[in-house]
Amino acid sequence: MQKYTIFEIPKAESNIFANYSNQFWLRLIIMKTITVKDKHFALSIDSSEILKSVEQVAIKINSDYKNDIPLFIVILNGSFMFAADLFKKIDMPCEISFMKLSSYQGMETSNTVKTLIGLNEEIKGRKVVIVEDIIDTGITIENLIEQIKIYEPEDIKIATLLFKPNAFQKDFKIDYIGIEIPNDFIVGYGLDYDGFGRNLADIYKVVS
Ligand code: 5GP
Ligand code: MG
Repeated sequence: MQKYTIFEIPKAESNIFANYSNQFWLRLIIMKTITVKDKHFALSIDSSEILKSVEQVAIKINSDYKNDIPLFIVILNGSFMFAADLFKKIDMPCEISFMKLSSYQGMETSNTVKTLIGLNEEIKGRKVVIVEDIIDTGITIENLIEQIKIYEPEDIKIATLLFKPNAFQKDFKIDYIGIEIPNDFIVGYGLDYDGFGRNLADIYKVVS
């Protein structure tokens, strides 16, 4: 269900409103909010901003791989919407494969990374680009890279729509990043909360 909710901005968090801090009504803003299962989420990144950053990622990939035939490996489920929009803008000949794993249950990272399923393409000697929805701690993607390296690709690069730099615990490079976000739990544009919210065109962050 979608609705608009009025939030009060805490004084300490709103310097632009500091001069008006005695005027209660000026510290109120209206936010688009939704409910997914038992949680409330506020609009964080709208679909036009998402699509602009998807396009930027595609432009960089097109330029880097213009003389190659890369193999893209899309990590399901969360990346399906990002992948659908990204590949409409990718213009070199390429193969696209879909694999599945997950490390989240509810809103907590489980630290246990499941193994990959669904890899049928020949990887040996190929230029591989992993397509992810979001990189948080980096545990999932690091494990994924190790599993793909076993098949001896020529090269592996990573494209992620979203990246949480303050949560990232690793030191490897992420080649293509759409949008950097704070450490909030988010839903929408393919990302779920307990299986729901993947169909939302915008991205929302949890508020309560
Ligand atoms: P990591 O292993 O980098 O900590 O987590 C990666 C995976 O956790 C992502 O592919 C995604 O499935 C899930 N994840 C991380 N942060 C979020 C988030 O804010 N919302 C949702 N829905 N999933 C997340
Ligand atoms: Mg993912």
